[in-house]
Amino acid sequence: MRQLLLRPGAEELTYEIRGIVKKARQVEALGYTMTWENIGDPIQKSNRVPEWMKEIIADLLKEDKTYGYADSKGVLETRRFLADLNNARGGSQITAEDILFFNGLGDAIAKLYQFLIPTARIIGPSPAYSTHSSAEAAHANAAPITYKLDPDNQWLPDMEDLYLKVRYNPSIVGILIINPDNPTGMVYPREVLEAFVKIAEEFNLLLISDEIYQNITYNGITAVPLAEVIGDRPAISLKGISKEFPWPGSRCGWMEFYNRESSIEFSKLCQTLENAKMIEVCSTILPQLAIPKIMKHPAYFKYREEANAQIGKRSDWMREILGDIPGIKFNPTQGAFYNTIVFDEGVLKEDQFLPIQDEKLQALLDTWLLEKNMPMDKQFVYNLLAAEQICVVPISSFCSDLRGFRVT
Ligand code: PLP
Repeated sequence: MRQLLLRPGAEELTYEIRGIVKKARQVEALGYTMTWENIGDPIQKSNRVPEWMKEIIADLLKEDKTYGYADSKGVLETRRFLADLNNARGGSQITAEDILFFNGLGDAIAKLYQFLIPTARIIGPSPAYSTHSSAEAAHANAAPITYKLDPDNQWLPDMEDLYLKVRYNPSIVGILIINPDNPTGMVYPREVLEAFVKIAEEFNLLLISDEIYQNITYNGITAVPLAEVIGDRPAISLKGISKEFPWPGSRCGWMEFYNRESSIEFSKLCQTLENAKMIEVCSTILPQLAIPKIMKHPAYFKYREEANAQIGKRSDWMREILGDIPGIKFNPTQGAFYNTIVFDEGVLKEDQFLPIQDEKLQALLDTWLLEKNMPMDKQFVYNLLAAEQICVVPISSFCSDLRGFRVT
């Protein structure tokens, strides 16, 4: 066989949210029951698609159009519906032509970075949902460039850090915002979003906002969509239904392009993404057909309200449990459904790890710990997996120098 060559950096691609599952399965194989706290799958967390939504989906399965290809950009009526939904909020206006569907937002994220030249960098948050940082780093074949989210300031972005990095690194062409945020559970106030826009304006940058958790906020908080603050700046919002409906198996997400004619480069990027979708033919049609029917249904608003109240209650419990523990940093969450716990420096020590009674579990852990250059929080997470059969994700796997873990 001729030599099969991988792109430089390709072998470094990892996704610990699922990578950890391999280890957890080894524990399960020894007869233990796992508590899954690693992945943001609402169905795995016992949320259920309500019966009225299932009926809408079942009815669609009886229609012939459900079995055809969709328009490459996505079902037109759905794109019209989503454009109207955006426009009704009064921010930057779009038409159906500015919306492009993908097979899940993960797919959209992978495509987003693919067509930029490697030296065109998007600066993203740290910690960050690792699909973004991995996809960006893969396109650049270089370490991600990040701005800090500050656990000592309610996980708000460190704007000075962002400003200085943008100022002194001319290869940065865009800023990624995740709002509400995964993994921190924070929702950014309007002033923070405006500060992002100000920096984008000064350095003529593209703004990208992952807003998949836009409608998952609680305890009186609502998330301001980026479209409300960008004015005439070029921007992309990333949205999806995996968490909101909750239907992650639908593999359905979309991009909204704002002010796509504001620069030739941005307009070309939007067109290229559309062409790429055309080459691929189209994205899954069933969830696209379901979106307007579900969102227009009289039960939808109440469903979301109740689901959010439930997540808010869990967030309150976490605050009660974790609020006053010395040696950790914990900020009560406002959106999405993750909590991130950060250990103070020097707190994580190997000799304090939990004892393991079962020899077979200990043997498993010993083999896992052979991994090279393992951050201490990953060792802690492996220890927790073996000692308590709880599966969480180390925060070092979210493109961060902090040491801690995320629970779902
Ligand atoms: N963006 C963020 C911030 C997420 O947390 C997730 C999933 O956890 C995704 C995108 C991916 O969503 P999808 O299921 O649509 O691929």
